[in-house]
Amino acid sequence: MLCPQCGKENKNTNIKCEYCGYELINGEEIKNDATKASIKMVKRFVKIIFGAFCLPLLIIGVVFLIIGIKENMAEVTQAKDYVETTGHLKNFINCKVDDGTEVCEAIYEYQVDGKTYTASPKMTGTRNAFKKEKTILYNPNRPQENVIYAGYGIFIIVGLCLIMAAIAIIFSKRKIIKRLEQVEEQNLVNIN
Ligand SMILES: [Zn+2]
Repeated sequence: MLCPQCGKENKNTNIKCEYCGYELINGEEIKNDATKASIKMVKRFVKIIFGAFCLPLLIIGVVFLIIGIKENMAEVTQAKDYVETTGHLKNFINCKVDDGTEVCEAIYEYQVDGKTYTASPKMTGTRNAFKKEKTILYNPNRPQENVIYAGYGIFIIVGLCLIMAAIAIIFSKRKIIKRLEQVEEQNLVNIN
C-alpha cells in the first residue's frame, strides 16, 4: 500500500510507514470500520423504523383504553339501579349519505307498564348495522330515562391489543439491537 503522507510503497502488513513513520491503516481495519459503520447504520434504521410504529401504536392504544374505560364507567354508573328490558328497532332518523354510504341513527321502542318509550343508541351506522333487538336499561322511577350500552368494551379490548403490540415491538427491537451488538463485538474480537 502507498503511504498517504510520503507516497512511498509499503508492505500491506506494515503498521507504520518504513520511510516517514506515518501510522498506516491496514485493509483489515478499514474493513472493520466499514462493518462498524454499517452495523451502526442498521441499528439506527431499526430504531427509527420501530420507533415510527411503536409510539403511534402506544398512543392510539392508550387513547382507546381511556375512552373505553371512561365511557364504560359512565354507562355503568348511570345504569347502576336501572332495570333491563328489550327494545325493538322501530325506525331510522337523521340519515346522511357519507362517502356514498348512508348512515343513520336508530330508534328503539320499549314498554314499561303498558307505556311505550323510545331509546336511541349513541351511535350512527348503516341500516343493517343495527340489531332488531337491543338490551335497554331504564330508570324504574322515570322509565323514559334509559341507557343502551354502546359496546365500549371493544375500545378497551382494542386499546389493550394495541398496547401489547407496542410492547412486543419494543422487546423485539431490543432483541435485534442486542443481536447487532453481539455481531459488533464478535467482529471486534476477530480483528484483535
Ligand atoms: Zn511515509
